[in-house]
Parts: sequence; structure tokens; C-alpha cells
Amino acid sequence: KMNKIEKIIIGTNNDGKYKAICDLLPNKVKKYSPREFDILSPAETGKSFEENSLIKASYFSKKTNLICLSDDSGLEIDLLKGKPGIYSSRWSGEKNNFNLAIKKIYEEMNNTKKDWKSDNEAKFICCMTLFWPNGKNHLSKGIIRGKISTIKKGKNGFGYDPIFIPDGYNQTFGEMKSKLKMSIDHRFKAFLKIKNFFI
Ligand code: IMP
Repeated sequence: KMNKIEKIIIGTNNDGKYKAICDLLPNKVKKYSPREFDILSPAETGKSFEENSLIKASYFSKKTNLICLSDDSGLEIDLLKGKPGIYSSRWSGEKNNFNLAIKKIYEEMNNTKKDWKSDNEAKFICCMTLFWPNGKNHLSKGIIRGKISTIKKGKNGFGYDPIFIPDGYNQTFGEMKSKLKMSIDHRFKAFLKIKNFFI
């Protein structure tokens, strides 16, 4: 029988993601944040969500000698050939201003195709890596497909939530109750595949 993970560092300095991941994990798992150890995030030098997720998990695990669960995620827009993709966070600038990032998305979509309303497919991708201090690791990926809303809607969530309408719904992630979003999104789907390590 496999030993279940009892304590973990959640390898992100992004408060929105930290909270989302804490909410996915069972209550009894002791959760640490990089902030408690005063560790900054490593440079994301990878070329894919997979690589960046592994970079973060291995970095935080080695710094703390704890098992780490990392998350590398982002939004890929078909019309923009997958942009912002792994640069989703960087599009918001040093101050993590997502009004700016969303403005940039609308600008690029308008510049690529004047009437993009019927060409608005996108997806959120999440790669999670579990990394043990002995170097063992396990990666899982979750994807949710949807559409880019023509206007920003809703005050819930974080990042690009106000402009993403998941397939099968007519609200943006920003309008949805966080409980609903959390039970269908890319992070949830990635977590489903590794939840046996915890439960
Ligand atoms: P990174 O994984 O730290 O490189 O950042 C991923 C970026 O994608 C974040 O800055 C988020 O704003 C964005 N992102 C990832 N997941 C979500 C989500 O569930 N909702 C909204 N934005 C997200």
C-alpha cells in the first residue's frame, strides 16, 4: 500500500493558484507556501507547461526538502496560435496587471481578425508536477476548452477568468461561483489524475 502524502509545499507564489490548489487538497494535508520560507519563484526557462512545472516543483522541493506540488498553467487562444500560452503570467507585466493582459489579448485578436467573434476558441491548460526530495516525480495535465468572451465579465476568480467561457456554460469563469469553477477547470482535471497520492 502506497504511503499517502501528509505534508506538501505548494510550488507557487501566485495567491489565486495557491488558494485553488489548497481547496483541491484534503483538509488533513498540511500545506506550506513558498512565502513561509521566503523563497522567490525560479525563472521559468522552459519551453512548455510541462518543463516549467518540473522546474518549479524540483526547485521548491530542493529548497525545502519537502514534497512539492507545482502548477504551471495558462491560456492558449487558437486565433493567436496558442498565445499567450506559457507567457500567460508574463503578459500581465511586473505588477501582475491582468487588465493590461486582457487588453493585450483583445488588441491582438482585433488585429488578427476584425470579426473574431466566431473564431474565439481557446483552452486553459494546467500541468502539475509532484516532486519528491529523492528526485522521484510525477506529472499530470488537465485541459478545459472554451471561448473568449467579447467583453470582460465577472469579478470572481483571478487572471484571465473574466474573459473565458468554458464549453457547455454561458458564463465566464469570472461570473461563476468559485465552487463550480473549481469542479470543472483545468486544475481540477490535472488534480484528478494525481489525487490517489493524497486520498
Ligand atoms: P504561471 O503558471 O505561474 O506561469 O502562470 C499562469 C498564468 O495563467 C497565471 O498568471 C494566471 O493568471 C493564468 N491562469 C492560469 N490558470 C488560470 C485560471 O484558472 N484562471 C485564470 N487565469 C489562469
